[in-house]
Amino acid sequence: MTSESTGKCLVCGTETKNRCSACVKAGIDLFFCSPEHQKFVWPVHRYFCGPGKANPWTWPALTPDEAREALEKLDVKPGLYLAPISEPTINDSGLACLVRIYLYLLRFPPPNVPPPPSAEIPVLYHLSGDAYTFKLDIRTEGWRTPLLHRLSALASWQRSPTSREYDDAVCEHIRPDIIRYLDEVVIPADPEAGRKVRQAFVSLTSQCFEALERRRRSSSSSQ
Ligand SMILES: [Zn+2]
Ligand SMILES: [Zn+2]
Repeated sequence: MTSESTGKCLVCGTETKNRCSACVKAGIDLFFCSPEHQKFVWPVHRYFCGPGKANPWTWPALTPDEAREALEKLDVKPGLYLAPISEPTINDSGLACLVRIYLYLLRFPPPNVPPPPSAEIPVLYHLSGDAYTFKLDIRTEGWRTPLLHRLSALASWQRSPTSREYDDAVCEHIRPDIIRYLDEVVIPADPEAGRKVRQAFVSLTSQCFEALERRRRSSSSSQ
């Protein structure tokens, strides 16, 4: 059952009645003001859309090809994405985290188009990995699924070609909405974990967003 009749578009924040109908069947309201904004998140949302995937947020099973590739590359180090974890051991949550990061990168490889922000692509993954590293019990995290759906909009922006419309959306709605959700929902419910996630999110994204804000300012002043 869904509870709200209207809500804010995940991409632009516009109040709307339209929501992802497959996700309604999973018992979660994800609002999109237009087909364009629903399409915008689809490259990431498609893996987390509908019953069995959307609520609770569930990582998709690997395809046979992906599983084969994962097995062939088990000793490949994901490099900088593992920066917070040193020398994981077999009994360490770090190892599970490494495997998840690797599987995430298989699903969402950084696009080979320059420039960053694609370098920041594993933000979504980082937070999920961090949540694991912080030893949160995911079954009791009422906030984890709504947070990850918000993060999927950010990940879609990171993977999409540069566009003024979506740069505006991410600066004016998507990123501030994630921080607002952390401040208003996550931190009151789970102060310690919420603050850790907020700190990681802000520090992982601030540099990229400061650069984006400078670009937006210079392009609007040159028009
Ligand atoms: Zn919208
Ligand atoms: Zn959906």
